[in-house]
Amino acid sequence: MTHAGLIDRFGRVHRDLRISLTDRCSLRCTYCMPADGVPWLQRDTMLSTDELVRVARVAVEMGIEEIRLTGGEPLLRADVVDVVDRLAHLDGPAGHPEISLTTNALRLPQLASQLVDAGLTRVNVSLDTLRRDRFIELTRRDKLVETLAGIAAAEAAGLAPIKINAVAMRGVNDDEVVDLTQFCVDHGYQMRFIEQMPLDGGHTWDRHQMVTGEEILAALRARWTLTERDDRGAAPAQVWDIAGTDASVGVIASVTAPFCGTCDRVRLTADGQLRACLFAREESDLRGLLRGGCTDEVLADAIAANLRLKKPGHDIDDPGFLQPDRPMSAIGG
Ligand code: SF4
Repeated sequence: MTHAGLIDRFGRVHRDLRISLTDRCSLRCTYCMPADGVPWLQRDTMLSTDELVRVARVAVEMGIEEIRLTGGEPLLRADVVDVVDRLAHLDGPAGHPEISLTTNALRLPQLASQLVDAGLTRVNVSLDTLRRDRFIELTRRDKLVETLAGIAAAEAAGLAPIKINAVAMRGVNDDEVVDLTQFCVDHGYQMRFIEQMPLDGGHTWDRHQMVTGEEILAALRARWTLTERDDRGAAPAQVWDIAGTDASVGVIASVTAPFCGTCDRVRLTADGQLRACLFAREESDLRGLLRGGCTDEVLADAIAANLRLKKPGHDIDDPGFLQPDRPMSAIGG
């Protein structure tokens, strides 16, 4: 039975907790942060593992069913295997939560099997290009080979499904929509294209630079026959089956086809702030409550109070839209 505190005033039931383990990252993607990074969160503001596990425990006891670990790059957190182990053993009305991860895959060769043993079930890997030169341009690191090795390590460790997330950008990688999808068809991965969102550290987002969901679909339909699925639920991606293959492809069109009406996600930042929405401008300071010696009830009430304030959706299309001050790297996907 889901605690009423996880249901917002629009009746959306929140079952998915996204936890950012760190704002640090081993790449410098152009659509996420400037070359020299962004001002990192102060170390002493970062939640300890005991603190983040406690918040997660209270949330799971309220009815959270899924926990997605994000960053920055979550695998940069030294005790990430222990974090997964402790989260996977939490117990709530829906049983143990499913633990998944969004990663750039660079540390998966070392960690994949340990993470699986600890309770990780599936991964989303960020990969915007299959071309080495373009990878260097986009991430400012020469790490394509290592990224592909990380994806292979996830597969070898039994993580499934493996979803490949790519941000489509005009004149940058939009000519690889078919190649990236073919890569997934050939390997049994699930391709997910994401419309670029106004969440970059440099506040340089340009709607005209963004490749729309419709444009991505048009490129795919030029190559394959697609059949739209009707089992989306609260998932961010609308998914199509690819005829003649066992594969599917998804599009997360946050800007042009928002899916806020069924949103079931709430986010905990690495420095202990609760965000009801990716684009929220208000946050609830759970770190202050934790370090002030609060009870679990007070934590649960704070989570409920935060969700009660949740807006019906992002207001990117509103003339008054203001990009959140906190960059994506400090919010997590
Ligand atoms: S923009 Fe906010 S409300 Fe909409 S789907 Fe994303 S997190 Fe949910």
